[in-house]
Amino acid sequence: MKPVPNLLQKATGPDAHARVWASVYVRLMHTMKTYNGSCHCGAVTFSLESEIEKVIECNCSHCARKGFLLHFVPGTQFTLLSGEENLTEYRFNKMHIAHLFCKTCGVQCFGKATNQEGVETVAVNVRTLPDLDISALTIEHFDGKNY
Ligand SMILES: [Zn+2]
Repeated sequence: MKPVPNLLQKATGPDAHARVWASVYVRLMHTMKTYNGSCHCGAVTFSLESEIEKVIECNCSHCARKGFLLHFVPGTQFTLLSGEENLTEYRFNKMHIAHLFCKTCGVQCFGKATNQEGVETVAVNVRTLPDLDISALTIEHFDGKNY
């Protein structure tokens, strides 16, 4: 962490750009947390690096039935720790999203999609993060039913 305060002292000139990036870096390091999650039987375990304050509740036919509260992270911030062999995939509609659920207990912890540029996004069902206080979150409603 030592180089960062040195960069922050240079407020103007060619180093201003570096200063801005350093401040972004400090902010990210400050707010990113590690969250651990699992399915009900414990076969599937995972972790993610993020800051979860807002979650999405979608009213589409799939999300409504499963009662999801979703938080999206880039694939690079998500780690599957165990249970890959226990995951079953469900796809529907345009088949773009892999809804992955545990074949033993049926819990869906997350879904994955990859865009045209090859960037993977993971939608985490925050209800599978046992240490997260869901009552403290801001819930944003997404009208997936009419999307
Ligand atoms: Zn399970």
